Amino acid sequence: MPAPATPAPARGEEPGLITFHRPAEVPAARTVRPVPGRVVADYGWVAAGEAGEHYHHGVDLAAREGDPVRALRGGTVRRVGSGDPDRREGGRDLGQFVEIDHGEGVLSRYAPLTDLQVKVGDRVEAGAVIGRVASPPPAEPGAPHLHLEVHAGGGSVDPKPFLDDGGGI
Ligand SMILES: [Zn+2]
Repeated sequence: MPAPATPAPARGEEPGLITFHRPAEVPAARTVRPVPGRVVADYGWVAAGEAGEHYHHGVDLAAREGDPVRALRGGTVRRVGSGDPDRREGGRDLGQFVEIDHGEGVLSRYAPLTDLQVKVGDRVEAGAVIGRVASPPPAEPGAPHLHLEVHAGGGSVDPKPFLDDGGGI
């Protein structure tokens, strides 16, 4: 059977339209899920019973204590501390945390951590182990998990787009 003279266009490649492909040598910022577990608490407003509601500035990913925590993207460790990273009055104690600056106003924050593998000023690649999951912090009791925040443009944003397709901002 002869091959058709004009092969059917591939999906998304209609004839006459120019299709842009990202050059292999210029990949989008590589993004790595910090822990493999699923999202067990979403970003945004959370009803908190008699305490009213509060804003959850990140997502919680299921994990076990001692699991390695990996950098979401490459960057520079900007801050290491413990307690409330935002130092708000009556703030939330997230335990020990690490912040990584990814440039262009994007940073990621990880808590609660133990066995830290980085210090302020360290350069890290995407996927580098920065520490291990600690027992749940006072602000987020319950099952062990990793609290992950992404900040962009000066405020927190939903980290999920960074986790789903490696894309994001
Ligand atoms: Zn959380």
